[in-house]
Amino acid sequence: PRSQKLASNSYLAPYLPVKDRSQIGKENATMVMLVRNSDLDAALESIRSLEDRFNRHFRYPWVFLNDVPFTREFMEQTSLMASGQTYYETIPTEDWNRPAFINEEKYRRNLREFEEKKIIYGASESYRNMCHFNSGYFYRQKRLLNYEWYFRVEPEVRYMCDFQYDPFTVLRENNKIYGFVITIQDYDSTIPSLWPTVEKFMETYPELVHPNNSLKFITTNETSLTNGFEMAESSSEYNLCHFWSNFEIGNLNFFRSEAYSKYFNFLDKTGGFYYERWGDAPVHSIALNILADKNSIHHFEDIGYYHPPYLTCPTSIDIVASKRCVCKAYGVFNEVIDEPVDLLPQSCLTRWWRYGAGKTF
Ligand code: GDP
Ligand code: MN
Repeated sequence: PRSQKLASNSYLAPYLPVKDRSQIGKENATMVMLVRNSDLDAALESIRSLEDRFNRHFRYPWVFLNDVPFTREFMEQTSLMASGQTYYETIPTEDWNRPAFINEEKYRRNLREFEEKKIIYGASESYRNMCHFNSGYFYRQKRLLNYEWYFRVEPEVRYMCDFQYDPFTVLRENNKIYGFVITIQDYDSTIPSLWPTVEKFMETYPELVHPNNSLKFITTNETSLTNGFEMAESSSEYNLCHFWSNFEIGNLNFFRSEAYSKYFNFLDKTGGFYYERWGDAPVHSIALNILADKNSIHHFEDIGYYHPPYLTCPTSIDIVASKRCVCKAYGVFNEVIDEPVDLLPQSCLTRWWRYGAGKTF
């Protein structure tokens, strides 16, 4: 079992190969995983999958972030699973906990209200800290300042196809700053005041709105093009579409820019991360849709990926075969998890095709 430590006096020790961890990949890039010690098994699954499908050919490092110190067991097991260097960082408490300006009474009242409404993660305080951290703090953690590119990985995910190229290089060479695989609609009830806040932000800083933005992608509200089902209803102009942020390959300098920092601070000071339950996915996405050139955002259509409960699989059978994918884009699905989200009404992919970046390479 995983919990058995690989003791240095193990009888296998003399037969274990010494790992060559020297980096082969040419980019200034790292994997990054925010994770709890209790997620060890699920983290190992994700690392194994990404190493087998991609990173063992490149040996990019892994940065593990946690709000409490990592256990020795976590560090041992994950560093054995990874091909590259591994770093373990404890997040400073002031980057993790809710800011002092959050009104305690209002916060508690809203937590109860979210719980009563049975909103997903509605009553979770740690989930709010996590979303707040991923929205405004991960990219300024000291260890990550060494890197320009990051690949966000979560526990319990799977990569269904061989990569066969370096996605960091693909983004850099094609002037992209962000790549996604799944785009879906968010829960309206978690973000009631997010869009009104974003609109105020755009009024306050019109010069930060990129002339070639992808605002249309997140404000069109037509029926899904795939199957004729109605999409989820939003109480505002925002159609709830966002890039699912448990998979992200991106340029850290976008988040470290003055524009993003103004955007994050503008959102943060309303308290919406805590009084409501704003997710880092819509927060990242909306920033990209407003502040970035739409042609700098890339849909990796050839990377199969599964994060419960959604799967995406390349549509082309030639790609599925040649990239050794263990998923299928269409056909007869035996279980719900076999069926790619791209075929479901909550997917925003067809909108991205219509209103997002064209084929730019
Ligand atoms: P979901 O994908 O939205 O259902 O949320 P997850 O439970 O997967 O959390 C998102 C990411 O944040 C995962 O990488 C988790 O391991 C991590 N995470 C969530 N809560 C905490 C926490 O309290 N502490 C730490 N260290 N990581 C957390
Ligand atoms: Mn997750």
